[in-house]
Amino acid sequence: MSVTPQLQISNSNLPKEAASPTGTNRAVPPLLGASKAELTEWVQQQQQPAYRGQQLHQWIYQKGARSLCEISVFPKQWRTTVAEVPIGRSTLHHRTQAPDGTVKFLLRLADNQIIETVGIPTEKRLTVCVSSQVGCPMACDFCATGKGGFSRNLARHEIIDQVLTVQEDFQQRVSNVVFMGMGEPLLNPEAVLDAVQSLNQDVGIGQRSITVSTVGVPGRIRRLAQSKLQVTLAVSLHASNQALRAQLIPSARQYPLAALLQECREYVAVTGRRVSFEYILLAGVNDLPAHALELAQHLRGFQSHVNLIPYNPISEVDYQRPDPDRIKAFMDALKQQHIAASVRRSRGLEKDAACGQLRASRT
Ligand code: SAH
Repeated sequence: MSVTPQLQISNSNLPKEAASPTGTNRAVPPLLGASKAELTEWVQQQQQPAYRGQQLHQWIYQKGARSLCEISVFPKQWRTTVAEVPIGRSTLHHRTQAPDGTVKFLLRLADNQIIETVGIPTEKRLTVCVSSQVGCPMACDFCATGKGGFSRNLARHEIIDQVLTVQEDFQQRVSNVVFMGMGEPLLNPEAVLDAVQSLNQDVGIGQRSITVSTVGVPGRIRRLAQSKLQVTLAVSLHASNQALRAQLIPSARQYPLAALLQECREYVAVTGRRVSFEYILLAGVNDLPAHALELAQHLRGFQSHVNLIPYNPISEVDYQRPDPDRIKAFMDALKQQHIAASVRRSRGLEKDAACGQLRASRT
């Protein structure tokens, strides 16, 4: 198993305290996210044979155990000793299914915070749209999550739990994970990268099938490139010039478009992988042919792909989704400039489960 230095998971993450004869400590960190080797080391610290590490790994990641008490292959007495060591699973607060099969989950975390996760089935895939934070501090003008403010970062187990929850609900293996739920993943890079590592090695999802989407945080795309993970990078661009971008995305005022694009170029140079640019189409705001030309100029010769996302309505602002012919005209203008682009079909729109509509409400 090769682990890049930044991503090494420290053994101090594991609940050594559970060995204490005085019982368990409620503050011990959850097991979810630990590798097979780490779990093996942990069971051995508990005077258990090494093969129990493999069993624990299988019960946590494949059988969906929520408590160590459930693990029937473990000796009864030991199960009682470690009964309170948390695995780190959430509980289901609410579940809604849209007519297109998309399922939105509201999950309750250990501290009662609620986050959203979306399961998106297609013929060949099951994609999970995961949250990386409770709320989001970026406050992009068109996004529902930002309107609700920010509470805290998620821990790695809270990210992995979302994927396991969807997998169990659909009774189908998750093929893809996109960090496009609540939050800005690159404001929480440690937990996000640890979770990616575990989703890959422990849950068995290909690194290339994992997409990290960011609106841009200075220096963090560079850091992602250096992590040498083969994840897909999606950058939420949404505007073809700095002035318009700064109007839509407050954080862009401190991180100009030119600097963001420069970091993206470095990302391509270091990883050899293309970047996806996300571009929400807001009628009359950023969807004119002139915007498409301006965007094309920035992206010419750039190893990239543009995903056009027709705006999904949220109640707080009165942006409009452009008409289909406007969307097509924008796409054609990009194609004429030899820029690879596609329009993303919105899933889960009827149940407020689509991009930008996530918030911790019961609707
Ligand atoms: N903070 C990260 C990930 C979360 S948002 C980011 O910004 O990339 C995931 C995607 O949904 C982003 O591209 C985001 O800009 C887009 N989005 C937000 N609000 C939207 C809306 N109302 N309609 C359509 N897409 C939206």
